[in-house]
Amino acid sequence: MVINKKKHNFDAGLRCVCRQPQVFFNMNKNAGWQLEHSFLQLPKLFFSHTPPDEVPLPSLLLLNQTLATELGFGWEALTSKQIASWLSGNILPENAEPIAQAYAGHQFGHFTMLGDGRAILLGEQITPYQKRYDIQLKGAGQTPFSRRGDGKATISAMLREYVMSEAMHYLGIPTSRSLAVVGTGEPVYRETTHKGAVLTRVAASHIRVGTFEYARNFLPKEMLSELLIYTVKRHYPELENSDNQPLAFLEAVMNRQIDLIIHWLRVGFVHGVMNTDNMSIAGETLDYGPCAFMNAYHLETVFSSIDTQKRYAFGNQPTIALWNLACLAGALLPLLDETPEVATQKARILLDSFKSIFESRRHLMMCRKLGIDKPRSEDALLTQQLLDFMQNRGADYTNTFLWLRTQQFPSSAYNSPEFAAWLEKWKMRVLENDGGLLKATAIMAAHNPAFIPRNHLVEEALENASQHQNFGLLHELLEVWRTPYQNKQGLSHYQLPPETEAGYKTFCGT
Ligand code: AMP
Ligand code: MG
Repeated sequence: MVINKKKHNFDAGLRCVCRQPQVFFNMNKNAGWQLEHSFLQLPKLFFSHTPPDEVPLPSLLLLNQTLATELGFGWEALTSKQIASWLSGNILPENAEPIAQAYAGHQFGHFTMLGDGRAILLGEQITPYQKRYDIQLKGAGQTPFSRRGDGKATISAMLREYVMSEAMHYLGIPTSRSLAVVGTGEPVYRETTHKGAVLTRVAASHIRVGTFEYARNFLPKEMLSELLIYTVKRHYPELENSDNQPLAFLEAVMNRQIDLIIHWLRVGFVHGVMNTDNMSIAGETLDYGPCAFMNAYHLETVFSSIDTQKRYAFGNQPTIALWNLACLAGALLPLLDETPEVATQKARILLDSFKSIFESRRHLMMCRKLGIDKPRSEDALLTQQLLDFMQNRGADYTNTFLWLRTQQFPSSAYNSPEFAAWLEKWKMRVLENDGGLLKATAIMAAHNPAFIPRNHLVEEALENASQHQNFGLLHELLEVWRTPYQNKQGLSHYQLPPETEAGYKTFCGT
């Protein structure tokens, strides 16, 4: 047993949280923990050594055994109790160095200091294939960055992040993953009393646009530069010898961000809170708060109860991605060029290319959704006509493409001369594929999910699990969402939207 010699090194004017010494228990022999701490090479102002809180009664509610194996954890022979002790934060793996990371961010357009207020990074797990993943406990207690928050998380919010992130992963979309949800046995107070839980989040890293904004606004230029060098090495090693590394980095982040948003648009995902602190530099979907999947197609779809201005609406996500990239560019300015005007000019030229790159990749993606093998610019009209039809009729986004694939439309919404005319045009177009309709069907099957997390099912499963300890539906859904592109028969219950969905709302940060 090793006693944690608690260190506090964060002195950016924030309060340090002191707790009882944490106990390291050497039960991880052969359990596969291989934690490293490259992030700790950065100056100390980028983090604060903060152990997780001890919780009264850890219980393992969900474990992602597939992911555990990928990460190199050999936990099959361990009891749930042992795993829950680690993943609640009660017992630290021997080589853990728990920290909270510092970052800032633009939240709904307003710049503010943030940081991990309820998340604690245990370290970076090195997998058997030498990949590096952050292992973070979310909801593990207060940190120097908690501001007025309690550092805790509710079971329902953590289960939500688990199911949504895993669904996104199996949809083939870059995302943080979820290893486990552990109940803490303590109450968490929001508008009402909830059960507390800790989510183990696994991510390429938790470096955000907001991490760069933090360095730019609160730290000396050398530290901003160190952050850049570190991030390039970790996520964009191919850029290490670039002439203008900061510019090449900005461009690479932009490219990954574009690809990510294109994926979101492809499956109808609304992130809901695209603040710059929730935008991963590695290009993964990060911070599942009020996110949800759209049923009826509409560009203005918003689920988050606090997004009254529709800033983060489905169709506004590309614009916001660019806005966030402009914040990253602003943070990198001092590194882009010695002369501020030249630096601004370089960033502007790059960001000006966003729109055309985005549009051409979106066009390709939409053509794939329609089963077109060699897209032409005129196909944009065909795509737009279908989107307009869906928006005017409130047609279901996922099912419209699914039914197009099978060419069976079991809803009266499609019984219109307008749609019949469009369908004729579409058929003529896909017959021009090498391989005709058959090829179209194959392309569509690869790009259009047959199953997405339907909000009403997510809610039902979360309620069953969090209120009644009944995880049956949740496991069922996770199983269905593991193969979202296979249109299995007899599962229409998981495919149909509810009769009415008006007013469906999601909530942030609970
Ligand atoms: P989010 O909306 O989850 O992206 O969180 C925004 C900021 O609020 C981050 O700095 C979080 O760490 C912090 N935060 C969210 N919930 C809590 C909480 N319950 N206690 C402390 N900090 C929190
Ligand atoms: Mg966040």
